[in-house]
Amino acid sequence: MKNFQYGKPTSLEQAAAFLGKGDPNVYVMGGGTDLLGEIKEGLVAPAIVIDLKAVPGLAYIKKDKEGLAIGALTTITELAGDAGIQKDYRALHEAAKAVASPQLRNMGTIGGNLCQRPRCWYYRDARVVCSKKGGSQCYAAKGRNKYHAIFAGGICYAVCPSDLAPALIALDGKVAISSAKGERTVPLAEFFMPPIVNVRKENILNGQEIVKEIRVPPAKPNEKSSYLKFIERGSWDFAVVSAAVKAVLSGTTVEDIRIVCGGVAPVPWRMKKAEDALKGRKATEAAGRQAAKIALKEAAPLAENGYKVEVLETIIARAIAALGK
Ligand SMILES: Cc1cc2nc3c(=O)[nH]c(=O)nc-3n(C[C@H](O)[C@H](O)[C@H](O)COP(=O)(O)OP(=O)(O)OC[C@H]3O[C@@H](n4cnc5c(N)ncnc54)[C@H](O)[C@@H]3O)c2cc1C
Repeated sequence: MKNFQYGKPTSLEQAAAFLGKGDPNVYVMGGGTDLLGEIKEGLVAPAIVIDLKAVPGLAYIKKDKEGLAIGALTTITELAGDAGIQKDYRALHEAAKAVASPQLRNMGTIGGNLCQRPRCWYYRDARVVCSKKGGSQCYAAKGRNKYHAIFAGGICYAVCPSDLAPALIALDGKVAISSAKGERTVPLAEFFMPPIVNVRKENILNGQEIVKEIRVPPAKPNEKSSYLKFIERGSWDFAVVSAAVKAVLSGTTVEDIRIVCGGVAPVPWRMKKAEDALKGRKATEAAGRQAAKIALKEAAPLAENGYKVEVLETIIARAIAALGK
């Protein structure tokens, strides 16, 4: 591992100023649970690491008539333990509880969770120069691809590993992004960038920007949400597939619905056709399964991950049935 300088900014402005110089070897760090792994594995070699945890006032959960505001340095444990989130934003509560292990949730931040790099085994092997690292091909396409994308692969089949991202997109979350040039706010659905746009990156941050805050609109009285994740083993694990669902219900009838899936595409994947098929129907497991089948016709599994199609159908169906519980 190469030595790096450690920066402890005292304000967000100071952190942004470090990045504003445009040096690609300056990295920001939240809890470090992903970044330090990448450094140790030889995937990145920063010259300077800026520790955002040193900046006061970036960890908070506020709820008011504007909705929910979550500081980027809020830990996943804090999210999972917040009673207001549990009451009004169940999908986010369930997603936070499903992230990794207690130790990782204690250290990992919401900002870092959204910006974490993919877990594709070819990407994580420093010896492999795949398309994400400037090489000419995605080795998963014809190689070992059990955990890879069934939607929107092509140039890169690595999946978005975040549990929080599908839940926050289903809940119509936005992200406030800060830089030396000012602040911009974008819907989280537009924060993630498919490989076809830029295979080297997973989000729209331009290298000089910092995630400052996540905002979620107020929950409507007749709104319900849920998050369900399928993992391969009983202890902590990344999602093989997951589904976040938010619905506006009239009794048990779906007036409006958002379904966003994890572990199946390089970005959190919206199941628009399933949403359309569910509008006006009862939020039951059977209706969810029928709707999922329609959307999953568009899946393009690889040699080893066809099972994801079946599992996702069930996870979506059960996440919809969970709205009524
Ligand atoms: C063994 C293991 C199991 C895991 N299982 C799961 C799981 O089941 N579900 C899941 O969702 N995740 C899982 N993770 C990922 C884990 O949740 C992330 O590592 C963690 O959320 C990242 O948060 P962090 O604050 O530590 O980020 P860091 O490691 O500090 O940063 C991660 C990346 O984000 C960038 N970054 C951090 N904060 C900001 C910011 N505010 N603005 C801009 N860029 C930023 C960093 O530069 C870096 O590139 C697992 C990780 C491990 C190691």
